[in-house]
Amino acid sequence: RADLALYAAKNKGRDNLALFEPHLDQAARERRAIESDLREAVANDEMRLQYQPIIELETGQTTGYEALLRWYHPTRGVMAPGDFLQIAEESGLIVQLGEWVINRALQETSGWEGDFRVAINLSTTQVMDAKLVSAVSQALRATDFPPERVELEITEHVLMDSSDASENTLLALRKLGVRIALDDFGTGYSSLAYLRRFPFDRIKIDRAFVKDACGEIGSQAIISTITRLAEAMNMETTAEGIEDREQLDLLRKLGVKEAQGFLICKPMLAEALANDDRDISGDASDPRLDKAVID
Ligand code: C2E
Ligand code: MG
Ligand code: MG
Ligand code: MG
Repeated sequence: RADLALYAAKNKGRDNLALFEPHLDQAARERRAIESDLREAVANDEMRLQYQPIIELETGQTTGYEALLRWYHPTRGVMAPGDFLQIAEESGLIVQLGEWVINRALQETSGWEGDFRVAINLSTTQVMDAKLVSAVSQALRATDFPPERVELEITEHVLMDSSDASENTLLALRKLGVRIALDDFGTGYSSLAYLRRFPFDRIKIDRAFVKDACGEIGSQAIISTITRLAEAMNMETTAEGIEDREQLDLLRKLGVKEAQGFLICKPMLAEALANDDRDISGDASDPRLDKAVID
């Protein structure tokens, strides 16, 4: 097969680097297959949202849920965004899919009890789409969801890749009354610069810092500095990816306001979350939190 590939490559007048082409072909075919399935996925009812609770570290109370997209693919199984989001972005399918996410998240959670936010992720292509603002506003109207309880999460890439248009879109979203969070903070090239460009309501401290926080004085210093910076700029903070008790205690000590992570609760479908007997809304020092790790 390698010979054949080389022969084909020579015929095309390329050098023998084309020996790797069979693999590239394989990857390209896979990509096309996923893209083609993705076109039908919403219509085929294969998309779901899982919700991950976010707690206030001081009280242990659930203050919000982040909606995370899952694709229940008929043959490939449950796929996480890492498996298909880039394809959705590059093909433009993310716009339609993103609208589905916004509507579904607001519909699904609008009946839930309590005073909580719903966090929804947006990617670059979505924020560059001029229709995003009207899509959000329509979803709010259709579900009667209080805008101030919706938080849209963007990453630094959104501001990095784009122009004033994206900034204007974010400002227009803000005018609707929704909140804007800066996700994965600290992983980009010029995180601090973005804080000056847009008045975010929240900074989500990336998992990378949390992961190393215990035992690494540098990560601790960064977390507490971000926290103080956020306070000075009137922004809230959430730390992502809390996986053990030590991290939870440390983050609380460092003054981080809110946290989410597998220790507290894994992302779950709405029905599973409703049936979950684990009461995570009590005291954060509740020993049952430890049980959450084992579950
Ligand atoms: P993100 O917004 O930073 O979401 C947090 C990710 O960390 C989620 O991965 C979540 O499952 C995972 N996570 C939560 N707690 C822990 C933990 O304790 N340890 C570890 N190792 N991971 C944890 P997921 O669901 O695979 O999503 C990955 C990314 O895909 C998200 O990162 C977000 O940027 C994007 N995404 C997810 N859903 C959507 C969506 O509906 N629309 C768009 N545009 N992007 C989405
Ligand atoms: Mg997020
Ligand atoms: Mg994140
Ligand atoms: Mg992330």
